[in-house]
Amino acid sequence: MTSIGSLYQHYLNHSTVCTDTRNIVPGCLFFALKGEKFDANTFAEEALKLGAAYSIIDNEAYQTNERCLLVSDVLTALQDLARHHRSQLHIPVVGLTGSNGKTTTKELINAVLSRKYKTFATRGNLNNHIGVPLSILSLGPEIEMAVIEMGANHQKEIEFLCGIAQPTHGLITNIGMAHLDGFGGFEGVKKGKAELFAYLKQHSGFAFINRNNPYLLEMSEKAQLSKVVYYGTESSNTVAGKLLKTDPFIELSWQSKAGEFYIALNLTGAYNFENILAAVCIGQFFEVSPVEINAGLSGYFPNNNRSQLTKTASNTVICDFYNANPSSMAAALTNIELLKGSNKTVIIGDMFELGEESAKQHLNIIEQAEKLDIATLIFIGKHFYHAKQNHKGHFFATPAEAAAFLKTNPLKNALILLKGSRGMALEQLMPLL
Ligand code: ATP
Ligand code: MG
Repeated sequence: MTSIGSLYQHYLNHSTVCTDTRNIVPGCLFFALKGEKFDANTFAEEALKLGAAYSIIDNEAYQTNERCLLVSDVLTALQDLARHHRSQLHIPVVGLTGSNGKTTTKELINAVLSRKYKTFATRGNLNNHIGVPLSILSLGPEIEMAVIEMGANHQKEIEFLCGIAQPTHGLITNIGMAHLDGFGGFEGVKKGKAELFAYLKQHSGFAFINRNNPYLLEMSEKAQLSKVVYYGTESSNTVAGKLLKTDPFIELSWQSKAGEFYIALNLTGAYNFENILAAVCIGQFFEVSPVEINAGLSGYFPNNNRSQLTKTASNTVICDFYNANPSSMAAALTNIELLKGSNKTVIIGDMFELGEESAKQHLNIIEQAEKLDIATLIFIGKHFYHAKQNHKGHFFATPAEAAAFLKTNPLKNALILLKGSRGMALEQLMPLL
């Protein structure tokens, strides 16, 4: 068996970690993880042929080569290696979790911090028990600061990820109706996310807290956090912001002991106001100058299908189809109401992982959407479809049926919100919009 100590030596010599033979970087360490459908032990040999320096495996039957390093469990080895690597790095790590807005906020924080420091931020959405270790193992000696997104859909997951990322600073973006199934309801979500505060308390870390959010305040008090930096709308906060405009992009002013500053962003969605303030607060904490904070934020262009305003040949689409849950759906509906636009259209798809709350939450969203001044309402997916009784709007059980409708009833000069859970893959409708 290969020990973590010897694996760490190999890591220091080779530094790149791969888990997919389609993306082998020459000289990397290939970790043969098990997926739902495959066991990468079977690719260990191929990874070496493709240029990996070593393959880390946990099935002796595939130890065909001295460069196949046997461990008892590949995933655990990856996590242990990352934990060990992190403990060797003496840099600030900002750990981020929350129900909504993690990736957006992570990008914004990174846009700000990278104006002054050599930073690393989680790539894409690699925020789980594999993504967090991979992120940590991407931290080379040149990195001065890291921003690590941590996602969770059950208790103890954030605690576990904190053990790997070892955040010195932390932020919970918000608490919402997400992953209700795995967390066991809304109180469960609060409990699960509070694991970040518990970690910070235990390790004397700093927390950045949105004082406008009563849940976060309550949780931080319960965790008895002492190192706290507040942001919000009240001037008593370390960073206080004022939302000036949301249509179509956000403009705001923010105030701190450094003075008052104005900024216009390329981000749509009033809900992003709090994400932006978090990034300002963290930038200010790490002594990025106000001018650089604003330069970082105004230079951020979303390209990840989150709050992304896209002009097509016929319409303007708020591409927000990366994911959805009741809180982000409600925020997106409120937002489209605030925007000016003709022929407003809402095309929304089912929200997953809501467990026994599912029917009620879908119904709530239908009722909220019905009250809005929206020309066309289109609901897609079996959960919405089941709730359609006596409600206005077009209901389709599948995206394909909605596509057929849009083909015969094309939208023109419309402002469209397109949003649904990842599994709904609503991007497939984009060619029709
Ligand atoms: P995931 O759980 O998939 O990692 P995430 O927490 O990283 O999601 P983002 O990908 O940044 O979140 O944003 C997803 C969607 O959540 C956005 O497109 C937007 O609709 C909504 N959202 C973002 N910020 C907020 C917020 N502060 N409050 C409510 N909804 C938000
Ligand atoms: Mg994310």
